[in-house]
Amino acid sequence: MDNTLHEAEITTFPAIDDRMNRYIKSKLNLSEQLSNQLRQHFWKKYGATLVGLMVEYGIEGSEFLRATHRLEDFSEKIFRSKSLNTLLRRLNGQKIIASNGPIQYVNDVLRLLGVRELVSNFYGIESYKFEPKPSRRAFSFLVRKNRLSPTKCIFVDDNLANLKRAKSLGMRTVWVHSDFRRPKWVDFRVPSIKKLFSLVAIDGRLKNSV
Ligand SMILES: [Mg+2]
Repeated sequence: MDNTLHEAEITTFPAIDDRMNRYIKSKLNLSEQLSNQLRQHFWKKYGATLVGLMVEYGIEGSEFLRATHRLEDFSEKIFRSKSLNTLLRRLNGQKIIASNGPIQYVNDVLRLLGVRELVSNFYGIESYKFEPKPSRRAFSFLVRKNRLSPTKCIFVDDNLANLKRAKSLGMRTVWVHSDFRRPKWVDFRVPSIKKLFSLVAIDGRLKNSV
């Protein structure tokens, strides 16, 4: 969802990062600079800052999520997206949102974008018992819970590690990124979700080649 359905670097990440830094600073009694470094380190190492705090400092998950993902911080930055709405309506099949953010946050963002009713299901980090994408647990949860046949799935994400896992399960992959590279586990690359339109055939399926 983040940096895929909306531009989180602009809409939600600045406030969330700031709240996380402040939380880490007061909870672990660190300087501002060290708090910021630790947040980034955990995000890279575990796929989510929270997981690092849980594993290495025994921080309680739900308290951290409530304190850092606050609707009032971004409710005026995310707008209903007509083009996203049209795209989701046009795509065939189930549309499943698998975020590494908290479920309440996923719900809030989808609602602000005006697309919550258009997705079949949405999941957050609690769904995978705090083992976020690209973990095996997260992917097998998604497949099992939605009775998916991986070879019939199209996995859309901004993160290469997630796409690599999806590809290893047999899914087709779309990388939402402005990079010019295309690693071999990426079937399609689009600079923004809106460009996914060009990959959707008239029958609502994804084209085989572009
Ligand atoms: Mg993302």
